[in-house]
Amino acid sequence: MTGVVLGVDVGGTTTAAGLVTAAGEVLLEAQVPTHGAGPGRALETITELIESLRDEAVRRGTTIEGIGVGVPGIVEPESGRIGNEIHHVPELAGRPLASLLAARFDVPVFVDNDVNALALAEWTFGTARGVRSLVVLAAGTGFGAGIVLDGRLVRGARGFGGEFGHAPVKFDGRPCWCGGRGCLAVYASGRGIAEAARERAGRSGAEPSMDADPGAVTAALVFRRAAEGDSVAAAVIDEACWALGAMIATIVNGLNPEAVLVTGGVAASFATLEPRILAFAAEHALERALTGTTVRIVPGDKRVTMRGPAALVLYELERRSERATSSARPGGGRPRGYGADE
Ligand SMILES: [Zn+2]
Repeated sequence: MTGVVLGVDVGGTTTAAGLVTAAGEVLLEAQVPTHGAGPGRALETITELIESLRDEAVRRGTTIEGIGVGVPGIVEPESGRIGNEIHHVPELAGRPLASLLAARFDVPVFVDNDVNALALAEWTFGTARGVRSLVVLAAGTGFGAGIVLDGRLVRGARGFGGEFGHAPVKFDGRPCWCGGRGCLAVYASGRGIAEAARERAGRSGAEPSMDADPGAVTAALVFRRAAEGDSVAAAVIDEACWALGAMIATIVNGLNPEAVLVTGGVAASFATLEPRILAFAAEHALERALTGTTVRIVPGDKRVTMRGPAALVLYELERRSERATSSARPGGGRPRGYGADE
């Protein structure tokens, strides 16, 4: 690749974009409020942001080889259409974003779930570079995950591949905002931890630090109070660590990847409790399986989120050239149905 790729990370609050080299270096970046152009106008925001970076690339004489967009929702793998599960940017639901942008900017455009893109970035540029299989768990306000297995991103039949945040860790657990019950997200996401603390503090009535202003209770505060010895906060955090450990064990036993990386906004807090989380994981994982998996908890870097969608472009362009090579070989070029590609 001689030029750069343009990565756009669409968040519920902020959309960040950048020109990224094949080595993952961010040459130029910009960020704007997702709804700065008004409610329901995220598509205009995305388009204008791409336009301004494209113009800058032209001024520098740099070619844009492709555009990648990460969105906080499910993307249907075949059509590239955004699903209904995109609650923070609902105006993008049902939009064929990749084809809209490709028509406008005349370069290949790829759109995927933001945590799938993040997993590709960790695999392409990050500490997990070179492994054959990797699971990234992203503990933020919600709880996302991305799976790379045997060198391929796992999207699943409808784009839900990697939704470990909504896998149950407790069958009779608290109801989840997804409609399920006892999901990992209810215990180990920022929103889940804050809600659990508010609920427990309300019940006990004995923790003025936590229920004086329920709106002010954040996951970071709950971690801090737990470290200071607050019993309600400590119980919530203990449950969060156990839930995360159990999910790591599920992944180790079910997929046995070379690496599991826990990242995202809450990961900095989890990192201080890493030995405890790993002990919970060891309690549930098959011993020999766990020895083959390296588990790391690394705080996410909010400044380089555009590297995810940039990695998505590199990944898809590479796949495209693999396909072209295999169809040029004798016997290649057969129709690609089930299992033909992977
Ligand atoms: Zn759920």
